[in-house]
Amino acid sequence: MARFLAAEAFSSPSDELSLLPFNFERTGTEQFLVSNMVGDFIRLTEDEINKLIDLKLKPGDGLYEKAYAAHLITGSRQKSQQQLLALRLRSRMSFLREVTPLHMFVVTLRCEHSCPYCQVSRQSTDRSRFDMSEATARGGLDIAFQSKSSRIKIEFQGGEPLLNFGLIKMIVSAAQARSSVLGKKVDFVIATNLALLDDTILAFCKANEILLSTSLDGPADLHNKNRPRPGGNSYELAVSGILFFFAHYLRLASRSKPNNIIATMHRAGWNSTSAVFNEFWTSIIRGLHFESFIHL
Ligand code: SF4
Repeated sequence: MARFLAAEAFSSPSDELSLLPFNFERTGTEQFLVSNMVGDFIRLTEDEINKLIDLKLKPGDGLYEKAYAAHLITGSRQKSQQQLLALRLRSRMSFLREVTPLHMFVVTLRCEHSCPYCQVSRQSTDRSRFDMSEATARGGLDIAFQSKSSRIKIEFQGGEPLLNFGLIKMIVSAAQARSSVLGKKVDFVIATNLALLDDTILAFCKANEILLSTSLDGPADLHNKNRPRPGGNSYELAVSGILFFFAHYLRLASRSKPNNIIATMHRAGWNSTSAVFNEFWTSIIRGLHFESFIHL
């Protein structure tokens, strides 16, 4: 038999009010946008938000009804409002129960670049203790292959992932072995600055249909300023890597999804956007899928 909550769980919330979690942001001189945990939002004046925070509201004053409908307040002894919010939150976040088809393996935090906008905890090239271990990689594959999707994507990230190329080879080989047993298709992508690309790596990419994703921040002066490395030749290496890849693997690139080149925009490049666009429209890159700008 279904169990019902005690009557007090449904009692009027007006006796002892308490706040439920919410965020707010000023959107004008007298205006605030207030949103609850599930994304519902209302607009309140400064006077109203102060009253809400101080819980100086009561049934019939309009603010009480607005705040109650938006799940911003509840009666201290009333459970139904919190349960309704919890139910909506659970539905909204239900995607977390599914295992995503995209899995990123950060195979190392080492990198020979030292970009000021780097968002990873980049480590110098001699600190191999910041490399992913084989055991961790195998654990990552266990999670990746729990995906219900018939096609999964494994993306190698860093740092500069090619600094741990040995582990990339191991993961590709282990993933392919599992995919043939489980009947899943696996796509591979290496996100790389291309500086370490050589014949061996390219041959491996070709043999295993691995796509490359790289960064080009604009013309040489801007790119090299954004992306310093020993020798100051990040742009030259990136462009020669792109040309090298096109020359050898154009057919691979054209029959599968395009390889990606991403421009990272920050203060140094924000005044040179036309130069950045021009760089992407040169004879080197013309016709390549243009992925996106990231504004930092
Ligand atoms: S190339 Fe990438 S990982 Fe390396 S320092 Fe630059 S942003 Fe960071």
